[in-house]
Amino acid sequence: MSAASDYEMVVGLEVHVQLLTRTKAFCGCSTAYGAPPNVNTCPVCLALPGALPVLNEEAVRLAVRAAHALSATVNETSIFARKNYFYPDLPKGYQISQFDKPLAEHGKLDIGMNADGTPITVRITRIHMEEDAGKSVHDRYAGATAIDLNGVPLIEIVSEPDMRSAREAGAYLRALKQVIEYTGVSDANMEEGSLRVDANVSARLRGETKLGTKTEVKNLNSFSGVERALEVEFARQSDVLARGGTVTQQTMLWDAIRGEVRPARSKEGSHDYRYFPEPDLPPLQLARAWIDHARAELPELPAAKQARFLADYRLTPAEIEVLTADQSLSAYFEEVARVDGDAKGAANWVIRDVRQLLNSGATLATLKIRPPALAQLLALVRDGTVSHDAATKVFAIASENGDAPLDIAKRERLLQERSQDALAGWVDQVLAAYPDVASRFRAGDKKLLGVLVGLVMKASKGRADPKAVNQLLSARAAAGE
Ligand SMILES: [Zn+2]
Repeated sequence: MSAASDYEMVVGLEVHVQLLTRTKAFCGCSTAYGAPPNVNTCPVCLALPGALPVLNEEAVRLAVRAAHALSATVNETSIFARKNYFYPDLPKGYQISQFDKPLAEHGKLDIGMNADGTPITVRITRIHMEEDAGKSVHDRYAGATAIDLNGVPLIEIVSEPDMRSAREAGAYLRALKQVIEYTGVSDANMEEGSLRVDANVSARLRGETKLGTKTEVKNLNSFSGVERALEVEFARQSDVLARGGTVTQQTMLWDAIRGEVRPARSKEGSHDYRYFPEPDLPPLQLARAWIDHARAELPELPAAKQARFLADYRLTPAEIEVLTADQSLSAYFEEVARVDGDAKGAANWVIRDVRQLLNSGATLATLKIRPPALAQLLALVRDGTVSHDAATKVFAIASENGDAPLDIAKRERLLQERSQDALAGWVDQVLAAYPDVASRFRAGDKKLLGVLVGLVMKASKGRADPKAVNQLLSARAAAGE
């Protein structure tokens, strides 16, 4: 007999990604998010008799770009196929997809590092194009299901069953979302449905190489939901197997509120799709030169950017992870670092202060404090024109009104005081107020230097330049004053 803990999880993921085209996959209907139900429909996408689909070239361009970003081989010839099934949200009776000749195959994605520093790689089986099916809307009319046939072009990215834990599945999804965002083919927004995940999960005894019977878990609408659903479904399967039972291949629905998986009703389960080549569309033929050109147009992807940040800026892996999580944040950081020349300082400010603004609702596009201004502020701190505390105040004001940091520091009287007269005044004041400390300091007790600098800073309400105060006090000690 085996115990449930003797089993390992095997996961493959199918991810649908909505492409950022203006129009649908096979007609000119708009893809605008949030349009009223069924506004974006026409005889073509409703498959009315005599209407013929026309492939959206922009959708092909974006799909090919995504395929390149995932190191997949783009096929010069791919075939659209009809996936036939009955469902209320599919009045056509079929969905145009790709089957045995998909757009691209044999991709891969690195999702992290093993303990020995080698990358953890998930193989990607295929990337194919398809149109959206309709959407069943259950909460619009009490007791009735409504159908919304608006939709957008999709790609489906199918991985090999290469993940061995819920954590790896989560890491794969986060890495995939990041790559997709970098390429600009989709906003990959899971809440708006731009990225949808179905998970195939099975359990097998550790050491076994054969795959166990899998179930497909659907209705996953967040990455943490995917991870939780996988844990729950894997525990269920392990338990069945440990007790000598068998897992039934079926579709399971994740119930995020109850934290449980349950079998889908049978009509939501497996289909016999009877795929056949779509008679209304010719094979998709892409010239090799066109495919290669699309690869050359790829932007720098996350892994390459992270490697470059490590080499160029000597930041820590944790800093690099934060700065490259979002393409526009890394661009903002690079501009500050380029103008100011201090990458470490720029990273500190962007990671702490800029991200704090973003967390409270600002966006990088609308942020009032632009990279050149932040670079100026860094320089002001470095040359002692403003203290670090004052710089934080200047940053807060600049982020509200967009004024230049130096102007703000002058206006708000936040410049550090370096005039010898002003500094001597505060020093005299402190020495007079603390005669005991003053006499021990004059007698050569160097440990008191820090204490006195602190007291002078306090007396100046933070305006004194601590370096200059330090020098002045040291000079006085040396002169025996
Ligand atoms: Zn249409």
